[in-house]
Amino acid sequence: MLTKLNNDLNIDYPRAVLFDTDNTLYEYAPANNAAIEAVYLKANNLLGLKRNTFFNLYNKARLQIKKDLNKTASSHSRLLYFQRMIELLGYNAKLLLALDFEQTFWRTFLSNAPLFPNVYKFLNLLKESDIPIGVITDLTAQIQLRKLTYFGLEDTFDAIVTSEEVGADKPDPKNFTLMLSKLKLSSMTNIWMIGDNPTSDILGSKKLGATTFQKIHRGIKIGEGEKSPDVIFSSYKDLETFTRVIISN
Ligand SMILES: [Mg+2]
Repeated sequence: MLTKLNNDLNIDYPRAVLFDTDNTLYEYAPANNAAIEAVYLKANNLLGLKRNTFFNLYNKARLQIKKDLNKTASSHSRLLYFQRMIELLGYNAKLLLALDFEQTFWRTFLSNAPLFPNVYKFLNLLKESDIPIGVITDLTAQIQLRKLTYFGLEDTFDAIVTSEEVGADKPDPKNFTLMLSKLKLSSMTNIWMIGDNPTSDILGSKKLGATTFQKIHRGIKIGEGEKSPDVIFSSYKDLETFTRVIISN
């Protein structure tokens, strides 16, 4: 499915195509659920934690870190969540355990995060057409670079911006303006932004003049009002067909 919602907009050949990563190139929830379950099993094994205790403490730790670090890359840091969870349990500094939980989390996460079908095909179309491709993603650089290389995309992108290097998550405009300067482009006109999040991805780039595409799948709410995307799509096959027509015109 692909539907153009903004009928007033003429969508032209893109000067660049920018992607979010999480929940845009792959489905986030199954990966995240499998990962936290694996850490729970380890915590149950090593510390004897019951399921309810583990999940209550994890959520408490996560909310504390998110509140303290407010919309920055580190506010998503699983290492900080696990470290805080261990502290909430009454241990002081169980360093190896925090690191072990984090490694278990991301190892399990990655092996449960297949790319959406036809992502490679769409990226190849952009590459063959010499359209610059960028990634603008929230979270720390270490794990985001690891994810993209795990997906086999290490040679795909012309530029990447993480919210760690910007100091603030999307929709902070610095994420988008740093990308423009990396790609040596001066404005967002005729630049496509593809993402799942109506605030971070759609509103953030739309305010600067991008053409916005929202990836829709389970649990994703279509942005409304100022967060309304120009196009919604559920399959990269349909996005590829749509783009091919624009490119060949
Ligand atoms: Mg996302």
